[in-house]
Amino acid sequence: MKISDVQAIPLAIPPKPMTPPSPWQSRVSKQIVVRILTDEGLSGVGEAFALGAPLAVCNVIVEGLAPLLRGQDPTRIEYLVDLLHRSTMIYGRRGIGMFAISGVEIALWDLLGKARNAPLYELLGGIVSPRLPVYASLLRYDSPEDVASAARDYADRGFRSIKLHQVDVASVRAAREAVGPDVELMLDTNCPWTPAEAITMARALEPYRLFWLEEPVWPPEDYEGLAEVRRASTVRIAAGENESTLFGFRDLIARRAVDVVQPSVTKVGGISEFRKVATLATAANVELAPHSPYFGPGLAATLHLMASLGGSLPVEMFACELEAPLLTPPIVARDGWFDVPTGPGLGVEVDEAVIRRYPYPAEGERPFVLT
Ligand SMILES: [Mg+2]
Repeated sequence: MKISDVQAIPLAIPPKPMTPPSPWQSRVSKQIVVRILTDEGLSGVGEAFALGAPLAVCNVIVEGLAPLLRGQDPTRIEYLVDLLHRSTMIYGRRGIGMFAISGVEIALWDLLGKARNAPLYELLGGIVSPRLPVYASLLRYDSPEDVASAARDYADRGFRSIKLHQVDVASVRAAREAVGPDVELMLDTNCPWTPAEAITMARALEPYRLFWLEEPVWPPEDYEGLAEVRRASTVRIAAGENESTLFGFRDLIARRAVDVVQPSVTKVGGISEFRKVATLATAANVELAPHSPYFGPGLAATLHLMASLGGSLPVEMFACELEAPLLTPPIVARDGWFDVPTGPGLGVEVDEAVIRRYPYPAEGERPFVLT
């Protein structure tokens, strides 16, 4: 079997209208599906991270990676991934280059699973946890009242862990009052503060018993600053979604900057790299919770990884619904749990009708304007 082509498919599937509304809704409307085709008719799908400049990521796949892959045996994953890493060394160690490699790598694993007629978790060592606990990852809201309303809604739906994306104490207080003492709350701030500001905020948040405080320090790679915050407060620190490769995570963990490490399968380098990070975290007694605000093959890949790794921390589920599900069958949490897909490879397919219906950019639309 030989790779005949590699496709990168940019999509714009918007989320359904939400109550209360979130200013972040437009941020979740881009997706990148990667497809690897073979001369035997078998194909595999993956997903690359799409927030920011999705067409640039697609271009890395089509211009930078596809020529290296065409004609190759797709079952030699470790060999091919090493080739991609070395060939993109000057521009691809993190960011959009590694998003592209991640999407291709996931598609290679899906293809291998289909070729062997085995679910991905079987290829990764077999199942440890067929059902995985889920946390609802709320979008950002404009007021503490809206945060409380959304948190209460997801608690009522059976979620025992809920993450907020706010940057103020009042929203955390409102959410804690809304869900009571028995629901775990996390706070993801997306890198807003200096270490000194983050220490002040972490101490102010201590009464609300956060399960973790995520990415409190700007910039994300300031691990010395993050370690200072971790030492100065009792709040557990989580980070890692903006880090790539085993070596990037080695630095994050070696500085004792986190209690919980958060690799993202569509950014870190894919499935193999995620597993290497998991091993590193285990050896350092750091917990792992995947970053996975995805609706496509990236979410399926995360579930296979966590099913094969075990562990007790919940999997991230973005708390909104797309206008049309990208996967068939769709992956849906029930009562705060995900069931791991059991079919060959990722165990899911992308819906071809949805791909045709939601191209990015839409026909006749220019994605950007040069002036
Ligand atoms: Mg985050």
